[in-house]
Amino acid sequence: MDKTKRSRAEAWFRYADDLDIGPYYLDRAPQTSGQPQAAESFAGVEPSSAAPPIAAATKATPVPAKPSAPSGFAAAAAAAAPALVQRAAGPSLFESADRVEGDTLDRIRTDITPTCTRCKLHKARTQIVFGVGNPKAQLVFVGEGPGRDEDEQGEPFVGRAGKLLTQMIEAMNLKREDVYICNVVKCRPPENRLPEKDEIATCSPFLYRQLGVINPKVICCLGACSAQTLLDTAQGISRFRGEWFDYRGAKLIATYHPAYLLRNPAAKSEVWKDLQKVMAVLGLQPKRR
Ligand code: URA
Repeated sequence: MDKTKRSRAEAWFRYADDLDIGPYYLDRAPQTSGQPQAAESFAGVEPSSAAPPIAAATKATPVPAKPSAPSGFAAAAAAAAPALVQRAAGPSLFESADRVEGDTLDRIRTDITPTCTRCKLHKARTQIVFGVGNPKAQLVFVGEGPGRDEDEQGEPFVGRAGKLLTQMIEAMNLKREDVYICNVVKCRPPENRLPEKDEIATCSPFLYRQLGVINPKVICCLGACSAQTLLDTAQGISRFRGEWFDYRGAKLIATYHPAYLLRNPAAKSEVWKDLQKVMAVLGLQPKRR
């Protein structure tokens, strides 16, 4: 390609990036990192093999999934783009809009307010379930929304699914207090239904701010809702579960929700593989018996 065409194309891709549509013009396909050696249950059975090498896990693709494939010019550009430009590091214009100067978890909690009525979930909730754990955690787990126990106690993941999450954390040789745990929506959806689009759109900026303040190395999405929210995709979780993505400089991986594991215990081995990838990135050794 001649120099003028190349620099025009580069300028176009930079512009697309600023509009946050850059991923449509770049290679969006997730790449699989190194496979774990063994998949064993965190619920009772201790892992017998080492986690995959860190180098393998850090070869993650930096581009999150997007819902639809580009066509026409965009498709042609997608093929050419990776060789032309690297996606700029740092937030796009739209990402910057969520950032609050000097933000803190206390400030976010105060901004939500205990009497928040921004969305219809306020009608049936008992209290806001903000998040819990180490404010400087290297690892953040993000669920979808509080259930009945969480709504009563004001803490995420304290019910049956929460107990399983605690076992998962402990199998990683961590304690609940080492990590941070929060949800996409901070109020319980009635009858434990999935949070709806408008509720997610209203509440998710607080999640983005929490992640911005904590600045974790790894974000582990529990279930489709949080993964789709943070990766801005409508794809089903099974399409990208266990793959690495970039979320504003953090490494993001999605795995099945503990509530799903309670109904489908056979999927625990898949989740354990995902958790082993997280452990490799964080340099954690599996718990010894
Ligand atoms: N399920 C979630 O997604 N979050 C909780 O806090 C509890 C159950």
